[in-house]
Amino acid sequence: MILVVDDKSENLITLQKTLKSRGFETETALSGEEALKKIIQTEFKLIILDVQMPGMDGFEVAEAIGGFSKIKDIPIIFLSAVNVNKEFITKGYAAGARDYLVKPFDIDILILKIKTFIRLHQQTIELSRMQETLLEEIEQRKLAESKKDEFISIASHELNTPLTSLKGYLQLAERTLKSGDFEKSGVYLAQTKSQSDKLHRLVGDLLDSTKIQAGRLNLVYSRFDFESFLQSTIDIIHQSYPGRKIAKLGLVEQQVYADQVRLEQVLINYLTNAIKYAPDADQVFLEVNLLSGSRIEVRVKDQGMGIPIDKQARLFDKFYRAEEALNHFQGLGMGLYICAEIVKQHHGEYGVESEPGKGSSFYFRIPINCTEYIPFE
Ligand code: ADP
Repeated sequence: MILVVDDKSENLITLQKTLKSRGFETETALSGEEALKKIIQTEFKLIILDVQMPGMDGFEVAEAIGGFSKIKDIPIIFLSAVNVNKEFITKGYAAGARDYLVKPFDIDILILKIKTFIRLHQQTIELSRMQETLLEEIEQRKLAESKKDEFISIASHELNTPLTSLKGYLQLAERTLKSGDFEKSGVYLAQTKSQSDKLHRLVGDLLDSTKIQAGRLNLVYSRFDFESFLQSTIDIIHQSYPGRKIAKLGLVEQQVYADQVRLEQVLINYLTNAIKYAPDADQVFLEVNLLSGSRIEVRVKDQGMGIPIDKQARLFDKFYRAEEALNHFQGLGMGLYICAEIVKQHHGEYGVESEPGKGSSFYFRIPINCTEYIPFE
């Protein structure tokens, strides 16, 4: 849309007709003030501005346009019958004009100029949009790059810690074996097992995170007994944390159709977190309930440090670690993110209820049949 501004309506009508016959849509204004109002409301591609007008003249309109960052680049062509000397033409360009035509003008030349200016204006808009997008992308890449660097450094540190312990315990085991102190070497070897389990879990989490990113965390469904599954998971935890008690509450004697290995991973994660983030508590609770709608709920409760309410929603985000954890406990902040993905893929829900200083209750709920298709035995 082109805006034509002239205080003489006969000029406006003639120019509007001509432009229309050449395929241009136009809007008109009979004064500088009216023109400004319309320019602010509508996005024009070009403005044809009469210089000599009572009230606000063409130069003043152009200067006012220059003050608005959004519209300051709209091309302006001045038309003038009176002010034809060099001084006035210079003033027109200084006010922001792209061109200055003196009446009477050749309409074909005007049309050519209009087309050229509109094209140039559009190219400028596209270029600045492209520039903006590129700048945004550069910023995002920089951010991603620095996050990646940060992650690599945290991950290396996390992997290095159990690796160093592993090496230390192996040396101790070797020494005690040589001196014939088999009891001690047994203890050290058990420690190497626990450190290598930690390493195994960390590497597993890293691999899972890559799989989730690539949409390749494929579940393998089977039918299994839920109570036996809970018991065997408790046994695994007992092996890694022999001194910690897990109190089992509730009973759900159900056959479940789900990915047992992945659900075990979720439960182990909840339980190890409950142990890790409640170092002074003597027991952790594992509660199971049958819910309406053929769903099972599993809760892991601890009496640990708890999580402030404003942090709870982000716990299942990738790499998120609450400050309280950051300073005192090691971790990558990936465990709960992976748990969330696994539960989501089971068409389930997950969440946490927690109070700082009192403890947390992490839960997940899954349908007894986690897929639509249930094979018959
Ligand atoms: P990580 O334990 O490696 O940090 P997770 O994804 O398992 O990673 O947990 C994310 C964050 O959630 C932890 O850093 C911690 O802040 C918080 N969190 C998880 N479980 C508990 C818990 N039982 N008690 C208190 N905070 C917890």
